[in-house]
Amino acid sequence: MRKPLIAGNWKMNMTATETEDFIDQLLTNKLPDDVEAAVCGPFTSLTILSDRAKDSGLKIGAQNVYFEEKGAFTGEVSAAMLKDINMTYVITGHSERREIFGETDSDVNKKNKAVLSVGMIPIVCVGETDEERTAGKHEEKVQQQVTSALQGLKEDDVKELVIAYEPIWAIGTGKSASSDDANAMCEIIRDTVLNLYNQATAENVRILYGGSVKPATIEDLMSKEHVDGALVGGASLKVDDYLQLLAGA
Ligand code: PGA
Repeated sequence: MRKPLIAGNWKMNMTATETEDFIDQLLTNKLPDDVEAAVCGPFTSLTILSDRAKDSGLKIGAQNVYFEEKGAFTGEVSAAMLKDINMTYVITGHSERREIFGETDSDVNKKNKAVLSVGMIPIVCVGETDEERTAGKHEEKVQQQVTSALQGLKEDDVKELVIAYEPIWAIGTGKSASSDDANAMCEIIRDTVLNLYNQATAENVRILYGGSVKPATIEDLMSKEHVDGALVGGASLKVDDYLQLLAGA
């Protein structure tokens, strides 16, 4: 059985001081055992999060990584650096990185390999634009992004992977996909993994929905067969909302 995962994506929010307040407040609560809770913070929050979350069951992730091992890449952070501060997850291929920072499918594939090579788990984001959905090209777009992101990855690695379906038109807009549409796209992603690998791998890979997920919508989403959790931006920034998401998952 796939364990549900609620992963917060803080994006470029939360100073170190705000991070301390958040984690201290969060950890006064008991986290559920049947749901995996993860928070992906900005680089400046990560050691604070991983130090304080130790032994709490809360998993910590980064939002980006560079795929080269080390060297003259000013401003970049490597997979080994993130592993060394006990990151479990790294978000790769978020649409904001693709659109604002020009990341390509090939970059995303290299980042996935770098993350896996040091024993962390990528949360690979895929999703279509509004125009692509209107033109009926959303399935094809997502299949192509998944295929490219997984190119050359070993079956054992893909089994542990998390893929997040995040339609770009639903991110930060308040306009979430319906739970049926989210489920249909998550199923297409699982079928894509099935075609590339095999049944055991497809059944094991966790597929999240992301895009304006709120405490009020989580239960409906989680009732769907192929939705194994959520990648949550805005609603992960307040402890109360985040706890409600965990409770509803
Ligand atoms: P949102 O962001 O929940 O604020 O829509 C989700 C994401 O970008 O991961």
